[in-house]
Parts: sequence; C-alpha cells; structure tokens
Amino acid sequence: MKTGRKISLLYSGITIGLVLITAWVFYFCASNYTENVYYQYLEEKAHAVAEEKFSQDELDLVKYRNVVIRRQNSIPTSQELFINVANRALAEQQLAIYLDPDEIQKLFANQTVNFKKSDEVGTSFIYYDNTGTFAVVVLSRNPFIDDINNTLLWGILLLIVLATLVLYFISRLYAIRMLDRIDQDYQTEKLFVNNASHEINNPLTAIQGECEVALMMEHTPDQYRDILERISQETNRIIHIMRQLLQFSQARGGKLDASMMQMVSVAAILQHECKGNILLKIVKDHQLLADAELLRIALHNLINNAVKYSDGHPVTVWLNSRKLEIEDQGIGIPSAEVAHIFQPFYRASNATSSTGKGIGLALSKAILTRFGAKISVSSEVGKGTRFMVCFS
Ligand code: ADP
Repeated sequence: MKTGRKISLLYSGITIGLVLITAWVFYFCASNYTENVYYQYLEEKAHAVAEEKFSQDELDLVKYRNVVIRRQNSIPTSQELFINVANRALAEQQLAIYLDPDEIQKLFANQTVNFKKSDEVGTSFIYYDNTGTFAVVVLSRNPFIDDINNTLLWGILLLIVLATLVLYFISRLYAIRMLDRIDQDYQTEKLFVNNASHEINNPLTAIQGECEVALMMEHTPDQYRDILERISQETNRIIHIMRQLLQFSQARGGKLDASMMQMVSVAAILQHECKGNILLKIVKDHQLLADAELLRIALHNLINNAVKYSDGHPVTVWLNSRKLEIEDQGIGIPSAEVAHIFQPFYRASNATSSTGKGIGLALSKAILTRFGAKISVSSEVGKGTRFMVCFS
C-alpha cells in the first residue's frame, strides 16, 4: 500500500474513531434524556388518573372537572391498575406481574418506581385515599422513543458515513500532495549533491593528475611553473564553486547576517554593474532592505549572463520602481528547457560553448526570493531572453 494512502487511512481511522465515540455518547445521552422526559409525563399521567378515580367524592364539581381535563390532556395509557394493598400478600402477588421483588420493596417504601415491561414503560406509586391505600400502576406504550431513537441513530450513521468519506478523500489529497512535495525536494537535493560532487570532482582529478605528472620525473623550472599554474587555476575553480555554493545555501535557508541588512538602492547597484555594451534606463529607483553584497551578486549574475549569451549584441537593463527587466538579443533558451534553468547546475543544451557552471541563476533566484522579489523569464531561441524581477 502506498504511503500516502496509509497515512490518510491512519488519520481518517483515528478521527472516525473519535467521531464514533462522540456519536455514541451523544446517542446514549439523547435517548436517556427522552426516556426520562417520557417517565415524567407518565408520572404526571398516573397522578392525574389516581386523582380522577379517588378524589371525586372529596372535590367540588369545578375542581373535579379540572382534574378530568388534566387527565384527558396528558399522554395516552394502555393500562391503569389500582391494587388495594390492605392485603399485602395478595397485592404483592398482583404487582409481581409488573415489578421485581426489589421494585416492590421500593414501592412499599413510598418511592415511585419506573419500570419497563416488554415494549411498554410503566410507573407505579402508593396512593393514600380515604377509602384505603392503593398501589397505582400505569402502563403506556411510548410511541416517540423508538421514533426519536431511530431518527437519531440513522442521522448519526449517515453523518458518520459522510464524514468518513469526506475525511478520507481530504486527508488522502493532502497526504499525497505533501509526499509529492517531500519527494520532489528530496530528488532536487539528491541531484544538487550529485552535481556539486561532480563539479568539484573534475578540478580535483585534474589537480591530482598534475601532481602525478610533477612527481613522475624531474622537470625544468618552467615546466614546474606551468604545472603549478594549472593547479592554481583548478584550485580557483574549486574555490569559486564552493563560494557560490555557500552563498546559495546561505540565501536558500541559512541565517542572514542582520548587521549586513540595510536599505539598498537597486539603481546604485545597476549603475555599478552596467558597463560596456549595456544600455541602462532608470525610470524610478527602488530601495529595499537587503544584504547589499548578496543583492549585487544576484543582479550581477543576470546582467553577466545577458552579456555572456548575446554574442556582442547590446543588452538593455530597465528599472521602473519595483520592476526590473534585463533583456538581451542573444542565443535564447530552448522552450522545453526554460523551466529547468533555475535548477542548480542546469545548463541549457545551446549554452555549452560558453563557460559556466550553472549555479548563477539558481543563486540569483534564491537571493531575490529571500529578499521578497519574484523572478521570471521569457525567451526565444535565436532572438533573445528577458529576465523580469518584481520587488515586493
Ligand atoms: P551558467 O554558469 O551556465 O551561465 P547560470 O545558472 O547563470 O549558469 O544559467 C543557467 C543556464 O541558463 C545557462 O547555462 C544558460 O543555458 C541559461 N541562461 C541563463 N541566462 C541566459 C541568457 N541571458 N540567455 C540565454 N541563456 C541563458
């Protein structure tokens, strides 16, 4: 089973478990509550029934009429029994049909006893009248409780099924998306490490070769100088790559040096960087809080690329407040490769005749992103390339 599905199943399982427990507690409390309410109505009914039966001789006509109305308006009953308890043994025998011995004891201790008998509910209490003492037993079929419980049960079940489905799909969507991102990040990092090792390995191998040549036999001083020069060149290559990689990792996620942050003028950097065959147009300057050196590196890479890949054609740099454009009329970038040029160590297939390591653009993008700017590119092979930077 795929990890995304496993995670979503696990989390929706846990959540549905919690929903089920909550639903069960809710169902239990709600059905208990409705049952208790019904018992209250039944007790009221039982008292009304007893009063109607026994108090006719004690009340005047109006009061008795009200007692009858109260009885008529209360809930319907299926059985109403009045058991004379003068003969306790006989009374207990009759009561045993409805109550167990404990309940009978409670009843004779003057407590109201609520009970269930098959599909009916009942209530019972002792009523004292001038004609004797009676155990009043009233039974009623509760027509609502089953309806309410059924409606509750189906409602809750439906809710749980719906919640399960929605939860499963949402969690699956998120789990898959997250895993895809993690996987993508992991692949990018892997590629980055591979490319970096490769780029550093090449000059190191060259240095090792030069050393072996030097050690193989005696050379003239001039030959040693040549060898050392080549070693120095390769060492510089490594230093350059390492410096760019350090800047890249710092710009990407490392902590920026707070003491280096200051208000920087983009126009000032451009004026410093745009020399030679570069047309600089500044409509309006933009100032931002940034590390001036890092921002300079980012803009330098873009301008340097424009010059490097344009075969001597003029380059235009245009700044209007938050918008900066660097446009050249050079070799362009094949459309299928445009999406990759910001990846570290990526070089387009038509760029191999120029020197480079493919780190500059990735570094520029990381720096600009760090300072809240967005970078985009449009290009056409043979016609030119335009980089657009939008500061926030
Ligand atoms: P490089 O050291 O190769 O110039 P970059 O990271 O600066 O590395 O650029 C990555 C790739 O993007 C380049 O190799 C090139 O293929 C392409 N590229 C960047 N800028 C331009 C440009 N102005 N014109 C054409 N291609 C460009």
